[in-house]
Amino acid sequence: MRIGTGYDIHRLTEGRTLVLGGVEIPYKKGLLGHSDADVLSHAIADAILGAAGLPDIGFFFPNSDPEIEGIDSQIILRCAISEAHTKGLCVVNVDSTLILEEPKISPYLSAIKDQLSESLGIPKSSIGIKATTHEGIGDIGKGLGIAAQAVCLLEEA
Ligand code: MG
Repeated sequence: MRIGTGYDIHRLTEGRTLVLGGVEIPYKKGLLGHSDADVLSHAIADAILGAAGLPDIGFFFPNSDPEIEGIDSQIILRCAISEAHTKGLCVVNVDSTLILEEPKISPYLSAIKDQLSESLGIPKSSIGIKATTHEGIGDIGKGLGIAAQAVCLLEEA
């Protein structure tokens, strides 16, 4: 068994689509980034890569690469899975926390789990997603961005 953690944060800005866990969420702002800026998928991908002892997603998908501008982060997740597979490892379960003031995530949780289940190749029952506010404290509390934490367990295939 191998365990890994991931953390990511992106700034909220107008004129972008908010994508969390591969699902477009209606909101007045979206996350800024070189990819679709899906902070939840990035944290999970880094947890998988970390558990496998591999470099982080910036190594595989450098934000200096114009070829991957606007890339769907489900591709990044699938890459992390495939890199873990090359080391003989597969995902047992993933748990994660989104930290954001707005919007409410609960109406979209089931759709996000469906998407992540497909991308990760594990059942929905093996995926945890929680959401919490930052209680108005700091930059996330002011609604300037969204952060995500994730932990992942891998086992030898
Ligand atoms: Mg990121």
